Amino acid sequence: MLQQTQVKTVIPFYAKFMESFPTIEALASASQDEVLHHWTGLGYYARARNLHAAAKYVCDHHNGEFPTKIEDVEALPGIGRSTAAAILSSVYQQPHAILDGNVKRVLARHQAVEGWPGKTSVVNQLWSIAEANTPEAEVTEYNQAMMDMGASVCTRSKPKCDKCPIQQDCIAYAQGQQLAYPGRKPKKATPVRNTIMLLPVFSHQVYMYQRPPSGIWGGLWSFPEVDSRDSLDVWCQ
Ligand code: SF4
Repeated sequence: MLQQTQVKTVIPFYAKFMESFPTIEALASASQDEVLHHWTGLGYYARARNLHAAAKYVCDHHNGEFPTKIEDVEALPGIGRSTAAAILSSVYQQPHAILDGNVKRVLARHQAVEGWPGKTSVVNQLWSIAEANTPEAEVTEYNQAMMDMGASVCTRSKPKCDKCPIQQDCIAYAQGQQLAYPGRKPKKATPVRNTIMLLPVFSHQVYMYQRPPSGIWGGLWSFPEVDSRDSLDVWCQ
């Protein structure tokens, strides 16, 4: 829930979610509709679908016990390398490096890593730096501090360098070029899509259908869509 969403927004959703699905088994045996219903208003529904699929996977492959090996955690739907590392370092103090968006920004500035982190060569360089700096001891505190640094000190547009504990050897600071790192994503034209949405009404009932699990509004209930007025006639027949 906290990916892309602030803590204060998440709290009421989290409390209700945990009340309804207090265990991995409870979540795994719920229907997708029930899970998505608890997500209504939070957005980014892929997170809910992945969490649900991950709970089922844990029940089917790990006897309902959350795995403790990094490769097993990474194999869960919706969990990438950094999230797996964050979970295992926070919960089991395993010394894995993390690299979420905030940490990428801190490291790119501190080491003046050029280029957009979406590029493989750039992200690989950042992973090497993250791994070289992650300690064996007190990894939970270190990773939390790195995330907090990015969220509250080395912020995107107004980094608070005068309050930064690693200012002394920050290369971007020394260059006076903090905002030049990390490199920007190359601009791409935003795709435009046209669609016709139908609102079929049969004796006071509105017809809806459940969208496919992936893609926009995946798994949610929606009005039927057609691409053109010609296909509208076909649909109505
Ligand atoms: Fe970020 Fe400034 Fe600290 Fe460098 S000195 S890591 S740019 S906050």
